[in-house]
Amino acid sequence: MRPTFMTTGSSRHHPPLLQPHGDALFLDLDGTLLEIADHPSAVSASVELLSLLRELSIQLDGACAVITGRTVADADDILKGALGTIAGVHGAEFKTPVASTVQWSNDNGPVWAARADAYALASRLQLLIEDKRASLALHYRHSPELAAEVHAGAEEIAAAHGLRVMRGQMVVELIAGEQTKGDALEAFMRQAPFSGRRAIAVGDDVTDEDAFASAAKLGGFGVLVGNRRDSAAAFGLDDPASVAAWLQASINGPA
Ligand SMILES: [Mg+2]
Repeated sequence: MRPTFMTTGSSRHHPPLLQPHGDALFLDLDGTLLEIADHPSAVSASVELLSLLRELSIQLDGACAVITGRTVADADDILKGALGTIAGVHGAEFKTPVASTVQWSNDNGPVWAARADAYALASRLQLLIEDKRASLALHYRHSPELAAEVHAGAEEIAAAHGLRVMRGQMVVELIAGEQTKGDALEAFMRQAPFSGRRAIAVGDDVTDEDAFASAAKLGGFGVLVGNRRDSAAAFGLDDPASVAAWLQASINGPA
């Protein structure tokens, strides 16, 4: 589904503290729990963050998931088991503690078929390409001036192979299927231990807007990290450090 954008001004209110036995929490990783790094592999979670996430998951009775653009394997490497429920590649992959092998939402054949073209584009424009199996991500953080050329090249490859183009911050992704982070949130909300709780989605990127809209549709809300103006999120936090402080305060309970 597509997000509904609302203009709520540049500053949003701080979100209320989480209700331990009433809320279901969906967290993005990069730019939300972790500071964005120059290279996607140059990211790691601190011992403090990992223990915070473990404690949070216990307090939420397991109703805490990561929904990320990274692969499940990659997110798992970073999280070191702190959270067992993960949707990867924007919902194209799933892993839960019950079925702990990675499951795919789509046939990844068209992504495979597009590899040669995507690698050729990456090599021509000197881009970093990330092969996620369910998608191919072209990063241009090191050459933002190439944005238009990268997008045009990606659109061409997507059209030739029946793929969708997903735009992020300094990254464009070629992906099979139509599912979004919002669909991933809704799929989790249909299952225990998430069902019947208030859905809260936290993220910083445009792809998180789908999750904000789904959370709101289900009676919950979104929390935008950063100060982007147009967002379906009702609340906001400045940066990953503020997210960690909010989560910690929720664990500690009202002062
Ligand atoms: Mg992010």
